[in-house]
This record gives sequence, C-alpha cells and structure tokens, in this order.
Amino acid sequence: MNDAACQSELLAAVRQCRSDEQAMAELRKLLDEAEAQIARIGGECSACGKCCRFALVDHRLYATTAELALLTSLDPPAQIVPPGRCHYQQADQCLARDRRPLGCRTFFCPPKGGRERSAIHEQFHRQIRRLHDRHGLSYLYTEITNSLSVLL
Ligand code: SF4
Ligand code: SF4
Repeated sequence: MNDAACQSELLAAVRQCRSDEQAMAELRKLLDEAEAQIARIGGECSACGKCCRFALVDHRLYATTAELALLTSLDPPAQIVPPGRCHYQQADQCLARDRRPLGCRTFFCPPKGGRERSAIHEQFHRQIRRLHDRHGLSYLYTEITNSLSVLL
C-alpha cells in the first residue's frame, strides 16, 4: 500500500463502491446475515478490544473494497492512531459496529465453533466478492490498517 499507484487505485475503487447505494445496502444485509449466523454458534466475548490491536496480538485483518467503503462512510473519532491499530477503536470499544467488515464479525479469540466460524466467513466472503462483480465494482482485498491510513 506504499506505492502511490496502489493508493490511488484503492481510493478510486472505494469511492466507486460508496457511490453505489444499492451495493452498499446489499452489503449491509449480507454482513447482518453473517453476524446472525455467527451469533447462533454462541461463545463468549468480553469485548476487551484486544483482537483489534493487531500489532499487539500479531493478527492481520483484510477487507474488501466494498467493506472499506461502508466502514469509511462513517468518520472515525479524532484521535492519534498508532501503527497497527484501527482508526475506529477508541479505548476498547469499536465505534463502527454496524459498519464493521466481515472479519471483525467472524473473528473470536475463544476456540468454540472455530471451524463453523471459518466456514461462515468463507461463505459470506464469496458472496461479497460476487456483489462486486454484479455491480461492476473493483474488487480489492487489503490489510485494514494500511488501507485506513490511505482512505482517512
Ligand atoms: S472496525 Fe471495529 S471491530 Fe473492526 S478492527 Fe476496527 S475497531 Fe475492531
Ligand atoms: S474476541 Fe477475544 S480478544 Fe476480541 S474482544 Fe472478544 S474477548 Fe477480546
């Protein structure tokens, strides 16, 4: 994402997605469906916020162009964001819960239902990819903290 051409490509692709209201509405529906399926698996999350501190837990989160468009349609809080952190996390809280990408919804640190969660992630990721194709949107799949530093 350091390359200026890649950054321009990402910016243009995200703007294109954001201007397609129908695609954004379909994406929200898919993400809500994925979340409902994940909720049925159960499992405890104390909302400690640790898994969003990617550098700390050595975890990487990737998001598609449309997911980045939906997430960044909300302004993040004004704050200094250290490298490897998400712009939408404040203290331990996610301030973009209703717009957060699929990976934020399917990742849980406890092991319960890990295989089922992965299957749900794969299934909905495929649907999100097809959504790009149906709407003629550029599909990119990029690491979220680098992408946010380009887009915000
Ligand atoms: S959007 Fe929310 S859940 Fe996803 S990484 Fe950022 S703070 Fe965490
Ligand atoms: S999934 Fe785990 S690390 Fe992430 S907020 Fe929940 S308890 Fe914390």
